[in-house]
Amino acid sequence: MSQLRSRAAVSPLRRALEVAAALPTVDALVAVERPAEPMHCLRPATVAAAAARFVAAFPGDVLYAVKCNPEPAVLRALWEGGVRHFDCASAGEVALVRQMFPDAGIHFMHPVKARPAIRDAYACHGVRDFVLDSADELAKILAETGGTDLGLVVRLALPAGGAMYDLSGKFGASLEEAAALLRAARPHAARLGVSFHVGSQCLDPVAYRQALQRVGAAIRLAGVPVEVVDVGGGFPVSYPDITPPSLGAYLAEIGAAFDALGLPVGTRLWAEPGRALVAAGTSVVVQVQLRRGDALYVNDGVYGSLSDAGAPGFRFPVRLIRPDGAAVADKVGFELFGPTCDSADRMRGPFLLPADMREGDWIEIGQLGAYGACLRTAFNGFDRARIVEVRDAPLLATPGYEADEVALAA
Ligand SMILES: *Cc1c(COP(=O)(O)O)cnc(C)c1O
Repeated sequence: MSQLRSRAAVSPLRRALEVAAALPTVDALVAVERPAEPMHCLRPATVAAAAARFVAAFPGDVLYAVKCNPEPAVLRALWEGGVRHFDCASAGEVALVRQMFPDAGIHFMHPVKARPAIRDAYACHGVRDFVLDSADELAKILAETGGTDLGLVVRLALPAGGAMYDLSGKFGASLEEAAALLRAARPHAARLGVSFHVGSQCLDPVAYRQALQRVGAAIRLAGVPVEVVDVGGGFPVSYPDITPPSLGAYLAEIGAAFDALGLPVGTRLWAEPGRALVAAGTSVVVQVQLRRGDALYVNDGVYGSLSDAGAPGFRFPVRLIRPDGAAVADKVGFELFGPTCDSADRMRGPFLLPADMREGDWIEIGQLGAYGACLRTAFNGFDRARIVEVRDAPLLATPGYEADEVALAA
């Protein structure tokens, strides 16, 4: 009845995507399995619906950022939802996507790549698009591919903005550097592009407008034509204390700012969403091992799939699952402790759960499809987690991605 299996980070499984209606619910699975290990509950229909919504609304190519969740069943659901392009950052991601989808467009969007990874991507996996933010990386790409059919994308640095995760500290060329790189890359590029990343969980749509204005400045300074403008990722989702502006608000800013650049007709827009497509598509069911006051010791934590609940302080949506009886008490705030012996394995929340929480209760923790399971470690021997596919609606909806806005074939 349930499709239990061990998880493997990047090994594709050859298994057809089940029709959502045939899948069990989380409650039914917990009642039967009574899982003593964390159970990852994947909602393929939710992932496919979010992908279909984004693909339909975005006026260009949608490149899914594979690092966000490389689970093969998730990648299959994205494909089902219409995603045909993948933003990969490593040889492993490139090989995984190519093995699963022979026809996919693969774009190598890490600004610092290993030489063998560049070589294999180009020669073995048909990758033509490479990002760069330095002259040395441009030289590496040219030397390792010898290609005359390359897509070369210059990553522009942005000032820190309205995102919960600032990604500008590590990658990106300044305006002047970007202009010089565009000029240097132009003679070698079958297509030339400019990209940026506003930072993850960006709550301010205007950040994309400002970034696109900077793209315009870089192109003017370079004085060479470009064929691609890539607005990166960063599209946010809901958390219990955060309801972001709707997807439409982001796309309106992007559309208007892109038009204002006055680039030639035919200039392509790309986006690299990660979190927005997959966050709602996985929750994790954990079990309470001990209660001490308003602290619950559970069997998953910051070294497992809950790292964002640790130092970054994300509050994920939660609900009690108690197959043997209903909760009777009002909800109060709990903090959670993970299973390892490290005192950093602590999630302050507060997570709102019934006041009579007790050992043995299960908790479904939602919105963990992005940067959740893929960050698990085996620290302290807590390396076991199972994956099941379920049909339930996610615990939270994000404006613009509601499943009922999209008619899915499945
Ligand atoms: C991580 C990453 C993304 C995805 O970001 P989200 O915030 O999950 O949408 C896209 N592009 C690049 C270059 C990234 O590093």
